[in-house]
Amino acid sequence: MDLTHSPADQAFRAEARAWLDAHVPARPLPSLETAEGFAAHRGWEAELAADHWSVVSWPAAYGGRDCGLVRWLLFEEEYYAAGAPGRVGQNGVSLLAPTLFDHGTEEQRARILPPMARGEVVWAQAWSEPEAGSDLASLRSRAVRTDGGWLLSGQKTWSSRAAFADRAFGLFRSEPDTPKPHQGLTYLMFDLRAPGVTVRPIGRLDGKPAFAELFLDEVFVPDEDVIGEPGRGWRVAMSTAGNERGLTLRSPGRFLASAGRLAALWHERGRDPFTRDRVADAVIGARAYQLFTYAAASRFLDGEALGPESSLNKVFWSEYDIALHETALDLLGVDGELADGELAGADRGWAEGYVFSLAGPIYAGTNEIQRDIIAERLLGLPKGRR
Ligand SMILES: Cc1cc2nc3c(=O)[nH]c(=O)nc-3n(C[C@H](O)[C@H](O)[C@H](O)COP(=O)(O)OP(=O)(O)OC[C@H]3O[C@@H](n4cnc5c(N)ncnc54)[C@H](O)[C@@H]3O)c2cc1C
Repeated sequence: MDLTHSPADQAFRAEARAWLDAHVPARPLPSLETAEGFAAHRGWEAELAADHWSVVSWPAAYGGRDCGLVRWLLFEEEYYAAGAPGRVGQNGVSLLAPTLFDHGTEEQRARILPPMARGEVVWAQAWSEPEAGSDLASLRSRAVRTDGGWLLSGQKTWSSRAAFADRAFGLFRSEPDTPKPHQGLTYLMFDLRAPGVTVRPIGRLDGKPAFAELFLDEVFVPDEDVIGEPGRGWRVAMSTAGNERGLTLRSPGRFLASAGRLAALWHERGRDPFTRDRVADAVIGARAYQLFTYAAASRFLDGEALGPESSLNKVFWSEYDIALHETALDLLGVDGELADGELAGADRGWAEGYVFSLAGPIYAGTNEIQRDIIAERLLGLPKGRR
């Protein structure tokens, strides 16, 4: 793997940096888990999209720059270094879009991707159900054939940002009597404001409606909103899951920026000798993850599929994120208990980031499940007892 960036790549990086310097809001936007913050973040997506920075790796026809994975990584490094806002369109951009590139029709891509790139249509992931999380194939929500489409009924839960999002994508049981649970599933997109949909927000401990439950009662979805073949949705879903755990959900740019902030905090707080090794580990970890991701990107560009290696990625970034935030809170001591409004500069954001990092080993497939995948498919160990 050649890690030197070409002059053209470096020019791309410089162009991204200059744009971000000129456009990143001087004050952080309100939390995107509130109605006000959600609207502000949609506005930011539109601003990015106006200059083709919202989805840099996509083809220009859909609003991107067609610039490939390496430049996407460079862009992400600049994005997080600039302290730019969180991405409200992430479910659509990181999960649904790659699925449509792999399994969608040209009509679906042309209809769905440009408004997603502009933040006009924000997507929620409607996979989990009260009895189907890790064991996703046990899902019970159903899709029943009707004239020109399907009627969806059932309940989904833990749908991030569905309280404010516009549309959702998920799996539904369309053939109830198949021999295996992952057969007979269909991957569909639906409107969160369609007749028959009830969105019930679930408040977090801080009261913000970060999630929602979705109750579906014979919601009509036209045939054009099925992704892939009816009944073969599991295969399509596994392509979404690979993207969720793999390259696109947690780019190394985010951790390089966080490790840089942690090192700055350590210097500001008097270079405490007891946390020095942990700060150094965080900086090394961010760099190792960056190199691992560049290696995965170059293998991908050489035509290799990402496969079960994405589970290694997922376990690494989720555990790394917790360790990094714990180190920051130890450095902050009692100040770590204060609300962000009462803190300044490098002290801000760590407590909220810590609480969110605790969810990392759960979402995108729990780490216990990822370890099973690593044991069975990468190490060739025998299947565990289920
Ligand atoms: C912050 C956050 C955001 C989320 N966003 C979304 C979203 O947008 N859309 C969506 O659809 N879902 C979302 N989820 C839900 C998430 O995907 C599920 O929580 C996750 O898949 C685990 O499912 P579960 O909660 O039902 O736990 P369970 O599957 O009941 O698991 C409970 C525990 O048992 C362990 N376990 C279960 N089976 C096995 C096994 N075979 N071997 C070993 N251990 C096992 C699990 O690892 C876990 O520790 C989100 C969750 C979080 C925390």
